[in-house]
Amino acid sequence: MTDARISRIRTEVESRTAELVDLLESFVRIPSENPPGSHLREAQKWIGGRLTEYAIPFESHPTSRTDTNHAVITGTVGSGDRHLYLHGHYDVVPAFSVAQFEPEIREGCVFGRGTSDMKSGLVAMLLAAVIHRDLGGAGRVRLVYVPDEETGGADGAGRMSELGLIETAGCVGAIVGEPGYPDIWYAARGAFTVRVTVTGRSAHVGLHYTGENAFEHAHDIVARLLTWRDTVATRMTSFRIEPEAARSSIVLIGGTSGGGTNFNIVPDRFSFTIDRRPNPDEDYDEARSELLDLLDSFRSDHDLSVEILQDARPASAPADAALLRSVQDSVAVIAERDAPLSMCPGCLETRVYSQHGIPAVAYGPGPSSAMHAPDEHVPITNLVEACAVYAAVLGDLLGYAAD
Ligand SMILES: [Zn+2]
Repeated sequence: MTDARISRIRTEVESRTAELVDLLESFVRIPSENPPGSHLREAQKWIGGRLTEYAIPFESHPTSRTDTNHAVITGTVGSGDRHLYLHGHYDVVPAFSVAQFEPEIREGCVFGRGTSDMKSGLVAMLLAAVIHRDLGGAGRVRLVYVPDEETGGADGAGRMSELGLIETAGCVGAIVGEPGYPDIWYAARGAFTVRVTVTGRSAHVGLHYTGENAFEHAHDIVARLLTWRDTVATRMTSFRIEPEAARSSIVLIGGTSGGGTNFNIVPDRFSFTIDRRPNPDEDYDEARSELLDLLDSFRSDHDLSVEILQDARPASAPADAALLRSVQDSVAVIAERDAPLSMCPGCLETRVYSQHGIPAVAYGPGPSSAMHAPDEHVPITNLVEACAVYAAVLGDLLGYAAD
């Protein structure tokens, strides 16, 4: 990209800073908390309203499995075969107080729920697409707004593939606007989460010998799982992540647990969760069956059932993908800083694209330290940087009609 084009983008984005902030504030005022998944329709209406305002054609695709509130909205800017996805979620984690839905500007930041994760990413993407178009950009920018990310994506991004919303031909990449600042996340772990319920037989404490204590059975199962957990933890990823301790493959046992009805009754049920997070360089299917087979092997001594709560594949982009270079170079020229490529410690919806062989990264304005926090915020300079970087990547990978 020429210096002249970069400086046009910069000037354009800087002159629209107030517009970016206004958009973010009005989006944050919609309390699209998930769980429980409230105000989704209001958020969809807001998105549709903004797309209409900026003359961007869009479609709404229902994605609920059980209700009618979820929808993935896709907007398209421009035409041609070459296209790039700009993807983000419009649900936010529950607020610590309703005050988080009344955005506040101080110390050069916008505070409020979703300012970092990730309504800031969505508004920066929207204006970047508009700027790309207005500067004579070529190709198609595909804006994707999904619900349900904060609870696993089964009613959102998880449905995109089956609904035919991923077009691989001509696709140059996908950027997800998650709050990874200052890093660019080029890989993410998978998540295979189950709830194990151990069944016994209840009895009054005085007649305990007629019962079967589900808690004691669970105790034995957990002891065996902990030994396995320690073995899994010796598997280190070769993707870049800090600190060293973060490289281990993960098993979290007992994130939630409970059972029994009272202290004087032998518990007939005890359940606990196992959250397995395979590294992107592990075989996800193998990791999945390893856990299920292990649980199966306990059935000879214990009565247990297993419910799958989350089943999300890992994601990674090839280190030499043009998209990675483009995002990194754009950050370098726009913000004059080196953005490290690293692995996200959590899950990313980049998986939806990388499963189809589309290079995908997460890069967004939100600082990773501020997401989900009671003082969630985004520096306005980050918002401006991200919008300009998205526009520069669009120009770099989709080109300009005049070229
Ligand atoms: Zn997020």
